Amino acid sequence: MKQIIPMLVALLCLTGFAQAKPNAQEAKKLLEAGNARFVAGTTTHPRSDMTRAALAAKSDQADYAIATILSCSDSRVPPELLFDAGIMDLFIIRIAGNVCSGDEIGSAEYGALHVKTPLLVVMGHSKCGAVTAVVKGLKGEGHALEKNIPPLVSPVVPAAQKVLQSFPQATTENLVIRSTEENVWQGIENIFLRSAAIREAALAGKVVVAGAIYDLESGTVRWLSEEKSAELLKRAEANPASDTQKMAAGGHAEPAPAKPATQPDAAEGSTAPRKTSGHAEPEHGAAHH
Ligand SMILES: [Zn+2]
Repeated sequence: MKQIIPMLVALLCLTGFAQAKPNAQEAKKLLEAGNARFVAGTTTHPRSDMTRAALAAKSDQADYAIATILSCSDSRVPPELLFDAGIMDLFIIRIAGNVCSGDEIGSAEYGALHVKTPLLVVMGHSKCGAVTAVVKGLKGEGHALEKNIPPLVSPVVPAAQKVLQSFPQATTENLVIRSTEENVWQGIENIFLRSAAIREAALAGKVVVAGAIYDLESGTVRWLSEEKSAELLKRAEANPASDTQKMAAGGHAEPAPAKPATQPDAAEGSTAPRKTSGHAEPEHGAAHH
């Protein structure tokens, strides 16, 4: 019997049955190991074939996915490749500038609370075009942007403004580097301020929210301070402006009300409305540091 049990476990693993999910620290170690393989050129492209796809088709992803990752849309930053991960491993949200507004926070809630990933990562990257556009705009070095881009990147503005105030003499390149990290913190703070459900899960130890920066040149993902993330959680808990409503009214999905085509994008959330003026502007109610 003693020999049969390990054999059964090995067989279950080989046949791809769901195993116990890793905790947040184990998930982070798996991502670190995958990124190390990527950097070393020893990727194995695991769980990326039709066998895994067939398993995914009949599985609940909540039994498998280990991390929710909010990353930039940039073609140079594909999470599955740079973490050497496969199908059903990562729940990914990608948007220019890895901004955290209402839709992204809703997706993060889905990943953390329905797909039950123990780790939620907000990942910025070097040479981010969205962050660069905001920094240059604030410095008066910007250029015309298409109509829908300024409201999209507006959540980056408070982060870049804070950096610009702290380092007024810094070069644009240096400001972009600093703003990229600050934008990750801003994103994490936005998640905590606007999602009572993620705050509750984080306080209960069910999810860890982590920051990271991907470096285009080295291929390395640098993990940011977990202590600072925990501090932002505490601060959001103590902030009276934090959203306290955990569940949606009615508790089920409803169709979005149709908006007249001529009406500019209305404010989508109570704490961080998007601006619609011609250039990137700070949001009201954005997190204070
Ligand atoms: Zn980017």
